[in-house]
Amino acid sequence: MKIYEKAPAKINLMLDVLHKRPDGFHEVEMVMTMVDLADRLEMSELPRDTIIITSQAGYIPLDEKNLAFQAARLIKDRYDVRSGVHIHLDKKIPVAAGLAGGSSDAAAALRGLNRLWNLNIPMQELQELGAELGSDVPFCVTGGTALATGRGEKLAKVDNPLSCWVILAKPPINVSTAEVYGKFRAAEVKRHPSAEQMVKAIEAGDFGAVCERLGNVLEDVTLKLHPQVAQLKEAMLRLGADGALMSGSGPTVFGLVYKESKVARIYNGLRGFCREVYAVRLLT
Ligand code: ATP
Repeated sequence: MKIYEKAPAKINLMLDVLHKRPDGFHEVEMVMTMVDLADRLEMSELPRDTIIITSQAGYIPLDEKNLAFQAARLIKDRYDVRSGVHIHLDKKIPVAAGLAGGSSDAAAALRGLNRLWNLNIPMQELQELGAELGSDVPFCVTGGTALATGRGEKLAKVDNPLSCWVILAKPPINVSTAEVYGKFRAAEVKRHPSAEQMVKAIEAGDFGAVCERLGNVLEDVTLKLHPQVAQLKEAMLRLGADGALMSGSGPTVFGLVYKESKVARIYNGLRGFCREVYAVRLLT
């Protein structure tokens, strides 16, 4: 038996870091949504008690460091599943990009294995399992649009009637999420984006207000470390995106574009700056 699951990329429409908690995690407020750029997981049951990960992408770990492997291990241990699984990851989401590719693969593995092994685990419980694997995994389990608080695991669904294009551009640099959080200083934040106002703008379907309220407090840190990311954001806006922001801790910058007629110009213009550019729709 074979099961397929799509694992879409996430973007942060707003991201605020409130403070560092005694447990070392940061208390955050994030509005997250998904875009139609997705990895595809093919899961096949194996008679032996083993987990095998393969991928066409040569640059991700295929052992227990892979988040899809960790998801399979967790489900097998927790629900005492004796059979094994071969998960093939068809990677489309750029790796270490701020698009939660690994987290979305883990979430897709949880959903898919729940079906493959007929476990009937309720969504809420799948999200709790996801929280053990990473802060973005619970959101990726359900997808859609949500306000995430705590360390990212407390989720409130946001109704999202928006429909627009999203242009993603990833410069060829590596950004360490740990370094960005390590260099972040709450006292130096000039402007905190408002989660409440972003949620209101989305629920009202007010595209203009969403573009105005885009904000990510990690942007200042990454932009200082990598001026290329700042240049990319400027180019995105100069070429005509209605709003632009860095996603997560970067380095991917996304632009929101309402009019389809503008998409080709922005896409082609950005290709002059970097190789990895995608024009996709917002998933609602
Ligand atoms: P986030 O936005 O959640 O910080 P990201 O998009 O920046 O995530 P990922 O693409 O998830 O980053 O990759 C981060 C690291 O995780 C990679 O360097 C890779 O070694 C490791 N990793 C583990 N599992 C996977 C996976 N299934 N796909 C991609 N990377 C993975």
